Amino acid sequence: MRADAHSGPLGDLPPEEFSRHAESLARWIASYLRDGERYPVLAQTSPGALVAALPAQAPTAAEPLAEILADLDRVVMPAVTHWNHPGFLAYFANTASVPGILAELVTAALNQVGILWRTSPALVEMEQVTTGWLRDAMALPSDWFGMITDTASVSTLQALAAAREMDPSLEIRHRGMAGRPELPRLRLYCSMQAHSSVDKAAITLGIGAENVVRIATDAECRLRPELLQSAIGADRAAGFRPLAVIATVGTTSTTSVDPVPAIAAICRREGLWLHVDAAYGGAMALLPEARHLFAGVEGADSLVMNPHKWLFTPMDCSVLWTRHPAVLKRTFSLTPAYLETQEQDVALSLSDYSFQLGRRFRALKLWFVMRAFGTEGLAARIRQHCTLAQTFAEWVRATPTWEVLAPVPMSVVCFRHRPTDMTDEAALERHNAGILERVNASGRVFLSHTKLGARYVLRVAVGNLRTQEAHLAEAWRLLGEAAAAQSVPVCR
Ligand code: PLP
Repeated sequence: MRADAHSGPLGDLPPEEFSRHAESLARWIASYLRDGERYPVLAQTSPGALVAALPAQAPTAAEPLAEILADLDRVVMPAVTHWNHPGFLAYFANTASVPGILAELVTAALNQVGILWRTSPALVEMEQVTTGWLRDAMALPSDWFGMITDTASVSTLQALAAAREMDPSLEIRHRGMAGRPELPRLRLYCSMQAHSSVDKAAITLGIGAENVVRIATDAECRLRPELLQSAIGADRAAGFRPLAVIATVGTTSTTSVDPVPAIAAICRREGLWLHVDAAYGGAMALLPEARHLFAGVEGADSLVMNPHKWLFTPMDCSVLWTRHPAVLKRTFSLTPAYLETQEQDVALSLSDYSFQLGRRFRALKLWFVMRAFGTEGLAARIRQHCTLAQTFAEWVRATPTWEVLAPVPMSVVCFRHRPTDMTDEAALERHNAGILERVNASGRVFLSHTKLGARYVLRVAVGNLRTQEAHLAEAWRLLGEAAAAQSVPVCR
């Protein structure tokens, strides 16, 4: 090995050094998973603090791994919000489970780059197997083609790009959309409660944010199909070109479920692509008793579900299925000469089906997780989270001056504190935002909020593998204390 004057032998660090540090790192991770509650769940830091704690320039000389690892505790941990903490009840809680973490280690070591089948047969075929396993466990149509992306935002973007390619006569892939007066403006439809990733997809695809038509919802936050039907009719009359509908099974704010059978019937009649966003709610399909929530999804053209949300798989892992793999391929396939191979007609290359060329070996962690828990084990854990959410909702309902603001079909409770003399929405918002701030400042739990119309709403989302009833009880106690403190007038 050639020696370098400044940094010692060239090449990688020796494998023996990996073993030594991996062993101590494994102990560090095990202790983190066992005693994660010793950290405040929400990072108690301020913007810029981590930047200030680090040198402005990269080190010119090599630093010992031991020193780098020591800085995890000194520099990184104070700036970490602990998604693995059992008191994490914000947004959609998730978990980096033990099998998922182990798989990530292997993924980094193998460093697969899934450009073509030959650059990683394991990646391509494992992705087919795991997305097929998950599809079948969720009782989705057995002929759907699955692939893994990094996020639901990208899955939805790709699904809507395929929807745009469904009608090749639009010639958008080749000619684009700008400067074409003959091209009607394309329209997407979703409910007022659909995720903002739909708008971002419209922006990215050049459809334009104003061409996302937000349909009003009923009292339970579900898209109203009769309004969808009339919006499509009005748009056609005005010369727009309706393209796709995005229905949500498990909306971000309340986990409401759009009436997919009625929406699918409209899409069939109107010739529109139906994309189902089940990024969070999809996990519920593993429960046979919850399958009614998925009625009608067999009529969809594509569906996204995120194992990195409620299936205990570390970031990032989102699964997109479609019944039209040929359309997805037509949308994205582009093979420069240097990527041509002898086997390209018989072997699957996932870069043909997605925007990105290279891809991580994400299927490995899904494989580890599905095997380590089994589909029944996964279902049992999801079921337990739903029960915990129902328990929390009961506590809220049973307490005067607190109210539950939406049905609880999954594991999220929307609620607020409503003192008897407080009726003004702005005052209620200030009051509940104050409660949230106090509760989160405790470092014991982390909750988030949303808005339902004019109402400011607190949310408890159960989804972390380590969350038990005691953690919800702690949250409930802290909420009660914060509400009492918030109601005491401040003397000046
Ligand atoms: N769809 C729904 C219903 C969501 O709740 C979210 C995020 O919470 C997304 C899509 C976007 O997810 P991602 O962060 O994977 O892009």
